[in-house]
Amino acid sequence: MTALRRVVVVGGGIAGLTAADSLRASGFDGELTIVGAERRAAYSRPALSKALLRAEADLTAHELPPHEHGAVELLGVAATGLDPATRMVSLDDGGALPYDGLVIASGSRARRLGAADGEHVLRTLDDAIALRARIADRPSVIVVGGGPLGMEVASGALDAGCAVTLVTAGAPMARHLGAHLAARLERTALARGLTILRTPAARILPGAGASAVALADGTLVEGDLLVSGVGDIPNTGWLAGSGLDAAMRPDGAIAVDARARVRPEIVAAGDVAAVPTLGGHARSPIWHSAIDQARIAAVSLLRGDESPTLGGAPYFWTEQFGLTIRVVGRTPVDGEPELVDGDPEGAALLRWPHADGTATAAAVDYRIPIPRLRRLTDVAA
Ligand SMILES: Cc1cc2nc3c(=O)[nH]c(=O)nc-3n(C[C@H](O)[C@H](O)[C@H](O)COP(=O)(O)OP(=O)(O)OC[C@H]3O[C@@H](n4cnc5c(N)ncnc54)[C@H](O)[C@@H]3O)c2cc1C
Repeated sequence: MTALRRVVVVGGGIAGLTAADSLRASGFDGELTIVGAERRAAYSRPALSKALLRAEADLTAHELPPHEHGAVELLGVAATGLDPATRMVSLDDGGALPYDGLVIASGSRARRLGAADGEHVLRTLDDAIALRARIADRPSVIVVGGGPLGMEVASGALDAGCAVTLVTAGAPMARHLGAHLAARLERTALARGLTILRTPAARILPGAGASAVALADGTLVEGDLLVSGVGDIPNTGWLAGSGLDAAMRPDGAIAVDARARVRPEIVAAGDVAAVPTLGGHARSPIWHSAIDQARIAAVSLLRGDESPTLGGAPYFWTEQFGLTIRVVGRTPVDGEPELVDGDPEGAALLRWPHADGTATAAAVDYRIPIPRLRRLTDVAA
């Protein structure tokens, strides 16, 4: 078993929570401390842009089951520095925590279009509560960003009775899911009343109004409320000067090996981490990837090279405009899928075989347990 006695987890999101639970489940019975910049214990971020925005919102949808890891949780406290030589994490309350094992799970923050006060983003529960209160007054809403976050916010605002304009660089969701699923979502969104404007680049113009964006051709689009969903930035500022520079990626993420390690005693997981893929290191900033990576990271700290490696097919889901799409396997997917079951325009189970013998499987409004969806990613299944 392990010689680790003190493990510090930086980040109180799902990756940090899962790492703590997994350490305990793997037999770690030493001191465990979670340092979390938010004043709340881990909650479901995916619920923020779905159940929490709906008019008939379930205001507990973000809550996670009570944890059992027994860690000391320092909430509302941020790590400000790391010294790997002395194995010490410094904190913004002036304290410092020694460790034998460190889990970097500090996640990411919303990228912003500009510095305007009127720009709303959605990353934290507080953001969701503020946005929910704003859309309850049925303002006209401009959403910038055609990814899952932008589309889910647009969907929630439409459901709440707002007139919504989505400003997007390409076809909504195409970069994430591929043309077939994106087209299904776009048709559904248009039928529900979403206005979609395409522009290579939307900008906030100084002095143009708190809730206005300029399109690339100079057209000004104005609304009562501006929400952006234009990506996220890994929270690695606290690692500056730590000597881990070799692992830092140009996008700010921290690169890990196939066992989620930065060094033998430092692991990273979740939105902050870039993991090895066939195309080089890349982030997989989705819920189940954070969970999978954190489980491997915890076992790596304890068992080193005897731990399993990363690499399961990613699982992603989105709920928007009345459709639920769940996908296992790599995305975006090109071309038309095989129809495994259902109705191509209704509830459908789809599969895209790949040349390497794997496949991407998608359930569109189709009830199928995740393990069975996962089995469809093996073409021989
Ligand atoms: C609105 C929204 C909807 C989403 N919907 C989906 C979805 O439908 N499907 C899906 O697969 N994924 C979805 N995601 C993505 C998914 O939620 C994330 O991939 C996941 O939450 C990442 O977890 P994490 O623990 O790595 O990071 P985070 O959830 O970002 O948690 C990191 C925590 O660390 C804290 N922290 C940061 N810096 C420090 C520091 N220096 N010291 C201490 N603490 C620090 C942060 O405050 C934060 O609480 C969604 C994300 C958002 C924002």
